Amino acid sequence: MSLTTKLKFLAEAAKYDVSCASGGSRRSGSKDGLGHTDGHSICHSFTPDGRCVSLLKILLTNYCVYDCVFCVNRVSSDIPRAAFTPQEVVGLTLDFYRRNYIEGLFLSSGIFRSPDDTMEQLVAVVRTLRQAHRFGGYIHLKAIPGASQGLIEEAGRWVDRLSANIELPTQADLVQLAPEKQITVIEGTMSQIQEGVQAAREEKSYRRAAPAFAPAGQSTQMVIGATPSTDATILATAAHLYQSYGLRRVYYSAFSPYPHADPRLPLQAPPLVREHRLYQADWLTRFYGFSMEELTTTDDPNLSLDLDPKLAWALRHRDRFPVDVNRASREVLLRVPGLGYKNVAKILSIRRYHRVTLDDLRKLHVPLRRVRPFVLTPAHSERFLRLDRDDLPSLLVKPAQLELFSASLDTLSGQL
Ligand code: SF4
Repeated sequence: MSLTTKLKFLAEAAKYDVSCASGGSRRSGSKDGLGHTDGHSICHSFTPDGRCVSLLKILLTNYCVYDCVFCVNRVSSDIPRAAFTPQEVVGLTLDFYRRNYIEGLFLSSGIFRSPDDTMEQLVAVVRTLRQAHRFGGYIHLKAIPGASQGLIEEAGRWVDRLSANIELPTQADLVQLAPEKQITVIEGTMSQIQEGVQAAREEKSYRRAAPAFAPAGQSTQMVIGATPSTDATILATAAHLYQSYGLRRVYYSAFSPYPHADPRLPLQAPPLVREHRLYQADWLTRFYGFSMEELTTTDDPNLSLDLDPKLAWALRHRDRFPVDVNRASREVLLRVPGLGYKNVAKILSIRRYHRVTLDDLRKLHVPLRRVRPFVLTPAHSERFLRLDRDDLPSLLVKPAQLELFSASLDTLSGQL
């Protein structure tokens, strides 16, 4: 098989992994080496459906001895197979880099024969790039769950980011759709990566020249919509991973149906907006002080598709609003729908000099339609919209969203 054909198959097979965003690490090039990464790290682009795709994002092989039902590369899948040698991946990376096509490498793989066998080959690629070619570009490498600690330790020394995919939110989901995978094994690999990152950080604190270990940290990916697991379950798993293993990011990937799929899989993909809502909820927990549990309820364990999670939370807690923009704490302001953390910082800064008015908010380009019912500003103590109006949700979403929203308005009004 020609290199071009392999590239076609193995770049196509890699597109389902969405955890390809840059980690923001910096690596200076050396005089006799090639490339550097400047904090923007890997060059990435977006496909029409919004997925982030790096310019050299490939699998080492799409052969796999596992049979994860949702995965196009599973052993029972009837697809053309291909495999690069480590040397071919090294050659492609250097060649594309020299032509300015890419700024780095995102390398994943199916499981050849065993986790160790596959991980050895992945490590051979990154070792050769860094040692033999002094390659300084960004490298994101998939850690194969179950690979031995020595291989994970070596991989961490060469790459910017490591990621072990959790795949599905619960062990029960894995039993159903990825029978060879176990959450304990996957989390064991995450734990090894975290230990490596922490040990390198500690060593660096007293020895500046200490070698780095995956300086852009670790991430993971969860397929959503392949099982009936709710958003509450997905978010609880994400919270556990963030807390236990210090993950930088959890990526959510909407399941993609394929022809003649296993009957255990749903026939339709979940709406892409569900993936979007999970990212919004994830963002709220990492930067806005929300806990995952606050964003769903026992009665409704899934995020609203019509309202963003912050607005949905505020409408469930109308008794906490409106808040005075001139007196409320940063934590309270961060919970106001329509106020982002940058604008909250600006509001706090303005407050040091004078009272914040509606005009100040306008100048900050906050979405007034959304913000006004939830805040009090001087000379506007009269509320713009009463919070007890039944039709408030429909007045707060953008006109373009109204059509989507109207179908479920009656139900929502009842709930709210
Ligand atoms: S181990 Fe990875 S590549 Fe192999 S079938 Fe499962 S998800 Fe696909």
